[in-house]
Amino acid sequence: MSKKPAVKNAAAKSKPSSKARKYVYFFGNGKADGNRHMKDLLGGKGSGLAEMTNAGLPVPPGFTISTEVCNIYYREKAKIPSAIDREIEENLRKLEKAAGATLGSTENPLLVSVRSGAKFSMPGMMDTILNLGLNDDAVEGLKSRTQNGRFAFDSYRRFIQMFGNVVLEVPKDAFEHELDAVKKARGTKLDTDLDEGSLREVVERYKKVVKDRAKREFPQDPHIQLTMSRDAVFRSWMNARAIEYRRIYDIPDDIGTAVNVQMMVFGNTGARSGTGVGFTRNPATGAREFFGEFLINAQGEDVVSGVRTPQPIRELEQVMPKAYKQLREITTRLEKHYKDVQDFEFTIQDERLFMLQTRSGKRTGYAAIMIASDFVAEKLVTPKEAILLVDPESLNQLLAPGFDRDEWEKIPAATRGLPASPGAASGQVVFSADHAVEWVNQGKQVILVRRETVPDDIHGMFVSQGILTATGGMTSHAAVVGRQMGKPSIVGAGALEIDESRRQFRVDGKTVREGDYISFDGLSGEVKIARVASKPSEILQVLNGTLAAKKSGIYRRFEKLLSWADKVRRLGVYANADLPDQAELAYAFGARGIGLCRTEHMFFGEGRIPIVQRMILADSEADRRKALNELLPLQRDDFYGVFKAMRGCPVTIRTIDPPLHEFLPKREDLMVDVARLEAAGQTGTELEEKKRLLARVEQLHEFNPMLGHRGVRLGITYPEITEMQTRAIIEAACRLNKEGIKIAPEIMIPLVGLVKELSDQKAIVDRVAADVMKEQRITIKYLVGTMIEIPRGCIVADQIAREAQFFSFGTNDLTQLTFGFSRDDSGKFLKIYQEKKILEKDPFASIDTEGVGDLVRLGVERGRKARPSLKIGICGEHGGDPASVHFFHNAGLDYVSASPYRVPVARLAAAQAALSVKVGD
Ligand code: ADP
Ligand code: MG
Ligand code: MG
Repeated sequence: MSKKPAVKNAAAKSKPSSKARKYVYFFGNGKADGNRHMKDLLGGKGSGLAEMTNAGLPVPPGFTISTEVCNIYYREKAKIPSAIDREIEENLRKLEKAAGATLGSTENPLLVSVRSGAKFSMPGMMDTILNLGLNDDAVEGLKSRTQNGRFAFDSYRRFIQMFGNVVLEVPKDAFEHELDAVKKARGTKLDTDLDEGSLREVVERYKKVVKDRAKREFPQDPHIQLTMSRDAVFRSWMNARAIEYRRIYDIPDDIGTAVNVQMMVFGNTGARSGTGVGFTRNPATGAREFFGEFLINAQGEDVVSGVRTPQPIRELEQVMPKAYKQLREITTRLEKHYKDVQDFEFTIQDERLFMLQTRSGKRTGYAAIMIASDFVAEKLVTPKEAILLVDPESLNQLLAPGFDRDEWEKIPAATRGLPASPGAASGQVVFSADHAVEWVNQGKQVILVRRETVPDDIHGMFVSQGILTATGGMTSHAAVVGRQMGKPSIVGAGALEIDESRRQFRVDGKTVREGDYISFDGLSGEVKIARVASKPSEILQVLNGTLAAKKSGIYRRFEKLLSWADKVRRLGVYANADLPDQAELAYAFGARGIGLCRTEHMFFGEGRIPIVQRMILADSEADRRKALNELLPLQRDDFYGVFKAMRGCPVTIRTIDPPLHEFLPKREDLMVDVARLEAAGQTGTELEEKKRLLARVEQLHEFNPMLGHRGVRLGITYPEITEMQTRAIIEAACRLNKEGIKIAPEIMIPLVGLVKELSDQKAIVDRVAADVMKEQRITIKYLVGTMIEIPRGCIVADQIAREAQFFSFGTNDLTQLTFGFSRDDSGKFLKIYQEKKILEKDPFASIDTEGVGDLVRLGVERGRKARPSLKIGICGEHGGDPASVHFFHNAGLDYVSASPYRVPVARLAAAQAALSVKVGD
């Protein structure tokens, strides 16, 4: 799943006061101090290990140092209080007892892993160290105990490399270089072909690398190794890529990571051992199939790092049938227990299976819908629970366009890779994450092509249309992150000969250079060297009538899930739509009302701008009325169309809002025109026209148009505009009512901060409406209300509510005016604000619950006090943001209004808000 709610870790914030406070949680011997509900303290990994231990699953014993300690580490400037150190020591002794081995012993050394793990999984962003506890003596002890020198030295060289890299910050390449040199000298290709003697040499070379690069000896004391590794894991919480990841996924910085210290089990003892990762369902398509990969005689990251090509997990059945059967049983049980798809890690040591991790599997939006509906059909979850299984944001992936199939089929595939994440991607090739960002900033669409991606590529992956790699399997970094971001991704396209330094690749006899176009289909794995036009998504095709609903399985499931959501949500979901075709689409997406119809958008329609300009340029009221009379039938037809598209649902129409100069040509352009005509010696009417226009534009020029002559101020200075718009609205409504469609328009006056502004306009609306209804010989219902978007409006909401029959919070302007941040200029500094943590989120994207949100709460409270029946909604961009929808639900609003494409997101988010209130508090 992608965005996570920004939940604060309450515990981590409070000061450690009493000595009795627990910082370290043991798991082992079938019993754990923690459980699945303690993710805040133990992190996802720690809580999963505890839960699996309690369930009697084979989990190597260990202990979890809580996330609170991470915060203490930072608060105390990288020092851990001695009381916590003692607690760690106690747990270490407990672990030694459970393992029957001792850290640092030469005869029977305990080896452990030191693993990072925060509340929200951040794949590959933080660090983990394996085989800790080995030194020059312990390795000999391990050898004699296991009678396996190759294994002992393989583990030792892995440890020195990981410790050297993570703790002492020696680049990985420095180690790889030595390993390659030894392999070359022995004429072998794979790590697994190296014998004990060669590995002993690797160890010696590695120790020298440490000494040269880190300027210190590799530490031989396991207790020092442990402390240094623990601290390095804490430090990895603040590494650049982890910070970037948290920024993208809205994860707060102050929740910290836990550290898990766990007895090692070994997948690298030989042919009867191995390691692997998997999912209980296919995370790309949602198909109900066991999914994953493993490697024989391997350890830890080997499977995902791409050093060797892993085998599909099904093949494990042939190699080790007993372990395979047990793995299937355990993971099926875990899926039932957690009621969600599990992403798991395991290791087999001499045919004995151990579980090392379980967590909710990240999946594509497509898979999320498939899985949620399958789970209901399998009676694993109820429809209500299914609603909580889909991240609202991920629904957007389903609306993204696909290829025009006919065009796609015409082009031959250049190669094929593993279909890691579905979707159609087309764009210009780039070979580095930095280039991806640069090019996208220039307005280009790019596909990031890499031999393999690394966690540092995250910013480039985020902006690309798709990700294509030459190595790696379905669980490689590129695949996992691609799926999570909902980016089309193909991995392991082995035929690509990538030359990253020359920025080109060769495939199928052709050379593709940076900037060339390619396209690929993340569902089939086909890559083509061409730019391919796209076509609306399957769901959109159903909605616009070009595909039959019964021909689209994904549409039917999408619709079903949203119908479940509709049953539980309390908030209404409306759409912001200005024209009939937008209203049509909004209705198809499930909007049952229009929360904002911006009438001025109709002014930009074909052939209308000259009329609008005439209205603005008019010198007298009479001339202005003449132009308005021309606009009247056009607006009336538009309103009629919008009402009709909404089939009787409420439609909220806002009277004219923007400053008038927006409808006139730009001052600079006019000056150029005038100068050009004068230079050419022209005198006639064209020049006169332009000059007149320029004079009016200059007259209308404002220093601060957003705070200038706009909104209700226009209606007050030019009442005939409000009259015309009211007439158009009521006439259209009368016509529909006569045709049998009962519609009650809601007329909304923008930018009101004074109750008398509203009274002034309401009197006009009521007068004109009465006239029209008399002419039409029909009475219809209508409401007059206001947008609440000026802070003063929130404060005097009680006064305003005596006049207004409804409120709609215009949270875009309300945010702008509350912060004093110009919407159009804040881009420049808001990014830096976020980097400096002055603001966590962009308040224009997700509602600022403390400041702007409090004004909303105040407005609701005072408004409803004055008029208990007051209908209240919100029509800013925030209406389509899940976190904001939660807030509006809790604030007691009646509806949210979002852009048509965000309507499904809002429906699901509103349902989740309703459910979490019931379940949570
Ligand atoms: P990440 O969060 O990056 O996956 P992990 O802490 O899960 O990091 O560990 C990285 C790899 O090391 C995983 O493949 C995991 O299964 C393996 N590993 C971790 N601890 C142990 C252990 N005690 N014994 C064997 N393998 C381990
Ligand atoms: Mg892991
Ligand atoms: Mg506004």
